[in-house]
Amino acid sequence: MPDPQALLRDVFGFDGFRPGQEDIVNAVTQGRNVLAIMPTGGGKSLCFQLPALLREGVTVVISPLIALMRDQVRGLQEAGVSAGALTSGNTPEETAAVWEALERGDLKLLYLAPERLAGGGAVAMFKRIGVRLIAVDEAHCVSHWGHDFRPDYLRIGELRRALDVPLAAFTATADQETRVEIVQKLFDGEAPQSFLHGFDRPNIHLAFAAKNNPRAQILSYAAARRGQSGIVYCGTRAKTEALAKALSDEGHNACAYHGGMEAEDRRIVETRFAREDGLVVVATVAFGMGVDKPDIRWVAHADLPKSIEAYYQEIGRAGRDGGPAETMTLFGPDDIRLRRSQIDEGQAPPERRAADHGRLNALLGLAEALKCRRQVLLGYFGESAEPCGHCDLCENPPETFDGTTAVRKALSAILRTEEWFGAGHLTGILTGTATDKIRARGHDLLPTFGVGKEYDKRQWAAIFRQMLGHDLVRPDPDRHGALRMTEAARPILRGEAGITLGKEAISRAATRTPAVRAMVSDEDAPLLSALKA
Ligand code: ADP
Ligand code: MG
Ligand code: ZN
Repeated sequence: MPDPQALLRDVFGFDGFRPGQEDIVNAVTQGRNVLAIMPTGGGKSLCFQLPALLREGVTVVISPLIALMRDQVRGLQEAGVSAGALTSGNTPEETAAVWEALERGDLKLLYLAPERLAGGGAVAMFKRIGVRLIAVDEAHCVSHWGHDFRPDYLRIGELRRALDVPLAAFTATADQETRVEIVQKLFDGEAPQSFLHGFDRPNIHLAFAAKNNPRAQILSYAAARRGQSGIVYCGTRAKTEALAKALSDEGHNACAYHGGMEAEDRRIVETRFAREDGLVVVATVAFGMGVDKPDIRWVAHADLPKSIEAYYQEIGRAGRDGGPAETMTLFGPDDIRLRRSQIDEGQAPPERRAADHGRLNALLGLAEALKCRRQVLLGYFGESAEPCGHCDLCENPPETFDGTTAVRKALSAILRTEEWFGAGHLTGILTGTATDKIRARGHDLLPTFGVGKEYDKRQWAAIFRQMLGHDLVRPDPDRHGALRMTEAARPILRGEAGITLGKEAISRAATRTPAVRAMVSDEDAPLLSALKA
């Protein structure tokens, strides 16, 4: 058998293994069933490419994206490895070349889209060409939980059984449910040898910011990083176009990317991004798995992602070369409302919806974190860590205050209006602002009317946002987004638990712009200076 170290150097041009790679390579080479979980950019491809060269026969690689397969096949061929892909994007010549290599018996890696497994002849074909190992890239696509579910991935388990060859599955998604589902669907529930590798990407700086004027926030973020390759993720297709134009108007080299564009136009953006320096792609999550550029220097979210996993994958596209990279995620109450309603209005069964709310909550908890953000993020993935010293919260520790009284006042306003109103109306009640709507409903006569005068509208907005972030209240889509109390709020309401809120958020919210400062009334002045102190 060839020497792994020599192949690593001579074929792949690497001086050594990255953390975790060597153990995985050994296990896969020895024909174990393997599940390897490694962060984005951690070097998963090598963990099946190298064993494929060390083993007899053909290794089939199932991969969800043609662009990914093409990149890898090109890279391998340039390194002198006999590799090919059978995809719908092939020219007849490419397909013929793959078959010739298979007939000659010298093809080492055959890349296939999962859709290829659908036809009846797949098993017979694989037996005939001597498939001895199945590698599944982006194995989380087998899971219903994530946003990348691909039904044809469910056929891989059958294939493994029919061929009776070892299978190695790779993913960056580490949460428990997804892991369990991968083991069930790919390995018939028989535990593979598992490798879980560090999730920390220490070169990536983490930061969140409350949405104020998101367009201006993104423009100034990009302006401070002019000339560096970056991605701006947006929640909607329309926004990608608008923001790309705004960035171009400011002299950036920027373009939009989303699933509604022609395949050809998307390919042009992908190619430009890979080749050009300093292109900014403003994209929906459709700009995802195929992005393999090592020197992306920054990733910004103009809208909150849908889950903590999505967040991690998206920021993980930055700094794959190990060089410094920065990320910034904007979030506001509208994002939370949108993400909640997407979950509630989706087709998923109730238990999955509950889990999706949980994953969103984890992200909101990260957004509203009051201590090292990296610690909170890694903690979610089951890793304990020291404060990193290299995130927005470590660099600028947030001041906190005991928010228990404020939260109880807000909850009581919610209950006294029978959970039928949104944050705006509730704020009117709390601040004692007798609007027409409040008078018409007699809410100016409630005992809660005016009990929250110590904070102004902006500050209450920040408090409600943090309450949403702590999942103390949730907008009810059947009540036009009215805030309803959750179970988590009961102990606070009953006085059995307290809650710490970020003071920074509410003082920043109140003093952000001169226009807002002018709205602060005299009686708030002592409080405001106390908050700023
Ligand atoms: P993943 O699939 O885990 O996101 P990739 O397999 O795409 O990661 O690898 C990410 C980058 O790391 C690639 O540019 C790859 O060439 C590089 N890489 C992988 N293994 C090594 C190694 N042992 N030494 C140096 N670079 C490596
Ligand atoms: Mg990969
Ligand atoms: Zn930190």
